[in-house]
Amino acid sequence: MSMTFSGQVALVTGAAAGIGRATALAFAEHGLKVLVVDLDSAGGEGTAELIRQAGGEALFLPCDVTKDAQVQQMMTQAVDAYSRVDYAFNNAGIEIEKGRLAEGSEAEFDAIMGVNVKGVWLCMKYQLPLMMAQGGGAIVNTASVAGLGAAPKMSIYSASKHAVIGLTKSAAIEYAKKHIRVNAVCPAVIDTDMFRRAHEADPRKAEFAATMHPVGRIGKVEEIAAAVLYLCSDGAAFTTGHSLAVDGGVTAF
Ligand code: NAD
Repeated sequence: MSMTFSGQVALVTGAAAGIGRATALAFAEHGLKVLVVDLDSAGGEGTAELIRQAGGEALFLPCDVTKDAQVQQMMTQAVDAYSRVDYAFNNAGIEIEKGRLAEGSEAEFDAIMGVNVKGVWLCMKYQLPLMMAQGGGAIVNTASVAGLGAAPKMSIYSASKHAVIGLTKSAAIEYAKKHIRVNAVCPAVIDTDMFRRAHEADPRKAEFAATMHPVGRIGKVEEIAAAVLYLCSDGAAFTTGHSLAVDGGVTAF
């Protein structure tokens, strides 16, 4: 099934690398103009350049999604550049914990909640009024399978991703009649820098990561991008408030 999009402009946060970069490239392959948002300027410019080299249109907007003023300015720049934002993929996120709940620090808690929860909330805070003024749109937030169930030694991260699902559901019902759909994507372990950073110290953990998925492997960034594009596409017109696990069967256990 080919995906069709009524809109023309997609915005992706955390688009300098990993899942965000792959999704930005996928939007561009489907003919959309892409706003590439990240605090990593080199990586963000790199994603925008990859899109342009492939014949697409993209603009990098530097932004720390934890800062209200920066998110507000980034959304103003987005509208100045492309007049509208039809699809927003709020994907920037971090994962820095290593220990059990009582071993976590206040700094870790504030950092993880700052990017994963406040960042998603701030982005939606400025995207929803714009989409209302436009007459509609679709938002996808990156949660995780750790937002659907417990994740040992990742309690703060898990709590942050449960919160993303809460924000997603609340926004979905509040803005449903404004023709804005809001969904979440919940990846299991995906082969990105985040995964490699977490597993470089112990290769046995990487092997375990593969075997814990019923399909016998970890996921690819393109497989998350495909799910995000589906949730934004016209084919998902009746889908909102949903958290889509893209997880090789992990949550079927
Ligand atoms: P990644 O580290 O490869 O990319 C994350 C991007 O977010 C980076 O480009 C980084 O610069 C950017 N970022 C971080 N903090 C930011 C901030 N304050 N403002 C703007 N940008 C910021 O990670 P990834 O694996 O591609 O993860 C993307 C999302 O997917 C995250 O929300 C993560 O929690 C989630 N996720 C990842 C996995 C996995 O296994 N990789 C699994 C489930 C969920």
